[in-house]
Amino acid sequence: MTDGMRLRQVRKSFGPLEVIHGVDLVVGEGEFVVFVGPSGCGKSTLLRMIAGLEEVSDGDIEIGGKDVTDLDPSQRGIAMVFQSYALYPHMSVRENLGFGLSMANVPKAEIAAQVDAAAKILKIEPLLDRRPGQLSGGQRQRVAIGRAIVRKPQVFLFDEPLSNLDAELRVSMRIEIARLHRELGNTMVYVTHDQTEAMTLADKIVVLRDGVVEQVGTPREVYEHPANTFVAGFIGSPR
Ligand code: ADP
Ligand code: MG
Repeated sequence: MTDGMRLRQVRKSFGPLEVIHGVDLVVGEGEFVVFVGPSGCGKSTLLRMIAGLEEVSDGDIEIGGKDVTDLDPSQRGIAMVFQSYALYPHMSVRENLGFGLSMANVPKAEIAAQVDAAAKILKIEPLLDRRPGQLSGGQRQRVAIGRAIVRKPQVFLFDEPLSNLDAELRVSMRIEIARLHRELGNTMVYVTHDQTEAMTLADKIVVLRDGVVEQVGTPREVYEHPANTFVAGFIGSPR
């Protein structure tokens, strides 16, 4: 299997405090990987280093076989979907979707085609002329995902994209994201503190505690053969 992504001894310190302690990880191309663990364990920091939004203190990161450790976010072949939707309130959905491409000087006709394709995948075609303020939380989250899709990244990065949604919507969006992965086939790295999300979405689960990987495995492996009592407690405990 080709590498979708590889981390080697990745570390992160904020000032004197090390919060990520030498993480090694291999992700196959097209795999859906979920980082799971309690609040403060380092999920976002790890994802932000993969995205290039946070410098690594030590170690290196490859995406698609290429060392991206010192590259800008825009050069890494990634697109990130945030928990807060970060949509531009004064722009229509269509403009929000196309904004990144227009900044990159992509021709107008191509932007229109990409935006239409993404809108179709996410079933938001009827919303294209609305502003974010006229959308529900779930619709806004779709637009945020659409913005990642139009950039045609090799790897999608999600940081708790559903945590602002109510329980019912979380379940339906989770199913949407699984469908998206099936349809697009990209490598996806998804951060959540929600075990149910992790278990249902992941091909591979990475359980983190205090900046250390406690276990990597399929949902079944992690559930049936937890590496230690922490993993057993975290994965097994009801929400
Ligand atoms: P998670 O996403 O799993 O909740 P984070 O990656 O946000 O965890 O945080 C991991 C640790 O790093 C926490 O102890 C947090 O306080 C610390 N941290 C995160 N960002 C910063 C920062 N910019 N400056 C200092 N400490 C930070
Ligand atoms: Mg976080």
